[in-house]
Amino acid sequence: MNGLMTISQFSYPTSIYFGEGASKKIPEHFRALGLKRPLVVTDRDLGALPVFETFMKGLKAGGLEPHAYLGIFGNPVRSQVHSGVDAYRQNHADSLIAIGGGAAMDCGKVIAMLITNPGDLFEYEWSKKPIQNALPYIVAVPTTAGTGSEIGRASLVSDDQTHQKKIFFDQKLLPRAVYADPELTLGLPALPTAATGMDALTHLMEAFVAKGYHPMADGIALEGIRKVAKYLAPAVSFARTKIGATPEHLEARKEMLAAAMMGAAAFQKGLGITHSCANALTTYYDRLHHGLANGVMLPYVLEWNASAAPEATQRMAEAVGMRDTKGLVQWVRDLKKQIGIPEQFQDLHADEARIQKLAEHALADGCTSENPRETSLEDFKQLFKKAISS
Ligand SMILES: [Zn+2]
Repeated sequence: MNGLMTISQFSYPTSIYFGEGASKKIPEHFRALGLKRPLVVTDRDLGALPVFETFMKGLKAGGLEPHAYLGIFGNPVRSQVHSGVDAYRQNHADSLIAIGGGAAMDCGKVIAMLITNPGDLFEYEWSKKPIQNALPYIVAVPTTAGTGSEIGRASLVSDDQTHQKKIFFDQKLLPRAVYADPELTLGLPALPTAATGMDALTHLMEAFVAKGYHPMADGIALEGIRKVAKYLAPAVSFARTKIGATPEHLEARKEMLAAAMMGAAAFQKGLGITHSCANALTTYYDRLHHGLANGVMLPYVLEWNASAAPEATQRMAEAVGMRDTKGLVQWVRDLKKQIGIPEQFQDLHADEARIQKLAEHALADGCTSENPRETSLEDFKQLFKKAISS
């Protein structure tokens, strides 16, 4: 490779308001922009919780006239997005707030896109049809620490029938501001805390070993890995005991929220085949959680990739207090055990034909070309066989 000819592009543009109580500042922010009627996009489960009710009350008390759209559930699909567009129009909204986990934020971004850009959602897949017009003002409020979608340019929405995932990717999809408030994540139960935390860790580790030159992403990834190493297990254990708003619990949640955004910032560099495998698995097993799928696959992929990225793997080992690759893989296995992520997938009933399909899907995934080690169809089959209990 001729170093002089390699031009890399770096950009970290999002304004982030970060800290306990940050979300209470949202009404002020909207009012200053002359906006009054946000459509608040969230998922059905969060919409039923007191934390959401409190959030809506806060918006109203701050002088806004919000309308909640609670139509997001499961791995989000196209019809949920179009219903959101209808809700925006019916309620004469003038802006959006996407609050929740990755699904709510991914949907909020493309709902915003369709408000000012005509046509069907899927016409915009992979920028096939360019996003011509500016989006209405959108703010993202994460309530999980995992996807980092709040600072990302991508959105992932599936087909209602086939569950095939479509990716929407454009600088215009970036939320204009993020309100990252650890208080909103205090009530997240132990399993989603663990699964979303493993997603963040996977973003950080895959970005760090991904192909390509991105020293800023590398620095952010390594520091993010240190945060996960220190705070994920305590966050899960506080979630288990339902300890409430102690300073230690708030600290763990805050640092995980930061680590998740750092993961998304870092994966501008690229991801790898943990995500290729997870994307294949969640396509064929719709109920499987993206973060859980990554969490199960991660140690198998770290082992597989180590020979292709020995120096980076060594540095990750050191970041978590281990000596070498073996120590790093064992550290991930121990962390998983501690937070309740299984060693292998149980009850997937994947026969040879299914393994073949999963491997084909993973091989074709966009993340595969970013992985440091060349991975063939046969290699993917072996990885799936290791990770899926027969
Ligand atoms: Zn992910």
